[in-house]
Amino acid sequence: MTQTLTHFIGGQYVDGESGRFGDVFNPATGEVSGKLAYASTAEVDKAVQNAKAAQEAWGAMASPKRAAVIFRMRELMVQKREALAEAMCKEHGKTRPDALGEIQRGIDVIEFAAGIPHLIKGEFNPNVGGGIDLYSIREPLGVVGGVTPFNFPVMIPLWMGVMAIACGNAYVNKPSERDPSAPNMLAEMWKEAGLPDGVWNVVHGDKEAVDALLHHPDVPAISFVGSTGVGEYIYHEGCAHNKRVQAFCGAKNHMVIMPDADLDQAVDALVGAGYGSAGERCMAISVAVPVGKETSERLVEKLAPKVQGLKIGPWNDPDADINPLITRQAKERVEGLIQRGVDEGASLLVDGRGAALQGYENGYFVGGTLFDQVKTDMEIYKTEIFGPVLSVMAPSTYEDAVDMINAHEYGNGVAIFTRDGDAARSFTAAVDIGMIGVNVPIPVPMAFHNFGGAKRSKFGDTQMHGPESIRFFTKMKTVSSRWPSGIKEGHQLAFPTND
Ligand code: NAD
Repeated sequence: MTQTLTHFIGGQYVDGESGRFGDVFNPATGEVSGKLAYASTAEVDKAVQNAKAAQEAWGAMASPKRAAVIFRMRELMVQKREALAEAMCKEHGKTRPDALGEIQRGIDVIEFAAGIPHLIKGEFNPNVGGGIDLYSIREPLGVVGGVTPFNFPVMIPLWMGVMAIACGNAYVNKPSERDPSAPNMLAEMWKEAGLPDGVWNVVHGDKEAVDALLHHPDVPAISFVGSTGVGEYIYHEGCAHNKRVQAFCGAKNHMVIMPDADLDQAVDALVGAGYGSAGERCMAISVAVPVGKETSERLVEKLAPKVQGLKIGPWNDPDADINPLITRQAKERVEGLIQRGVDEGASLLVDGRGAALQGYENGYFVGGTLFDQVKTDMEIYKTEIFGPVLSVMAPSTYEDAVDMINAHEYGNGVAIFTRDGDAARSFTAAVDIGMIGVNVPIPVPMAFHNFGGAKRSKFGDTQMHGPESIRFFTKMKTVSSRWPSGIKEGHQLAFPTND
């Protein structure tokens, strides 16, 4: 049975008025599960106006009171995590344990945001000269927009939205049109947690809705997560409209395996980081870089049978390792790239094309795929595949590995597996990458640190969650204050100093 999904504005669901709808699919079966309303510019404006009206009182509320609402949301997240996971999995396709991990990472940021009274503290400098006390305070920006991707439909709307509202802003989320149910559930849960209506809104849709946020005069900041092409557009278009923009984008993450690494550990790490969530993670490892021929041969010998043994399956199959891809187009694209790799001369050790599962014949499954002998000029190396495809390339030296990583256009994450502390230390300094793992394959920082890539994996200065998010979602005011008893007699025409 298909359901109609619509926007959540001003604390309630509102019917879509644009007349434009899109289908939502169950990726495991290929069946349509819902019909989603796509917002027009006027509907986005309605959401922004609701948010603007609500923001005034919310932004003026004492920060410990805002924190109390965030605490209640944390409890609801814990209580409802199974229902949230199910809503997400049915539209995204990811497995239940993977969904629960995503939800936990969202809860982590909620817990961090509950410390907002401490996080948002300003600076005070008594008597900087002439009896003047100087202090800085952080104030909310107003209404902020969050444009989010399909691959983390709970975690990413929370990563940006919780920090935005903790700082006293109102938030308008434009989630992915592929898996809109979980973002809607979040909005309902915020209402239940006691968040005033209008502080957390959800508008659905496509480019029209995103452009309406980008061009809206009452939206001073946009946080985006998604592909590099779209992120670059959003960054430039937002900046051209005088907005503060941060855009977290695509990736190609390498994992270097040094000759001294524990190969069993490295292989397990590659399987988890390469094939978890079917490779549809911006922090997935998509290139294994064993240093030297011998390391490469030993690695591939251990890795190939493990990849061959990975099972495809729907979200609720406890034995499933690899979930379906998000759309039929994504499956066709990934299969096309696999063929391109073969045509360009890479060695296809495990071929995940044609993966079939009884009862799920129309699902968007691609099985675990492993390439060896991949070269830097091949499309499968240059492109973010976003599927369960791992490439092995074996430079002869550590220095060549570092040069290769630094020459790639993306710079989101990277890992090194080694027992050599010197090599690890030199690696962390040498690579131009935002997030680095030493014997950690998916180095996604915890909520109280910052998240973000480098090069064309990120546009804008600030990072997500952690202390940087407070900077992104607030503006600073600096006040010079003196009491009349400190004022000297007579006027002063020269530029003021601290004399
Ligand atoms: P996407 O770029 O297709 O969509 C992201 C958002 O942008 C969605 O809300 C979508 O509706 C909107 N959008 C799509 N086309 C648009 C257009 N032409 N104009 C304006 N808005 C548009 O990304 P996706 O397929 O949903 O997500 C996968 C991508 O996201 C991958 O590239 C992945 O690496 C990236 N990602 C990056 C991070 C990170 O933190 N760096 C995290 C998760 C995902």
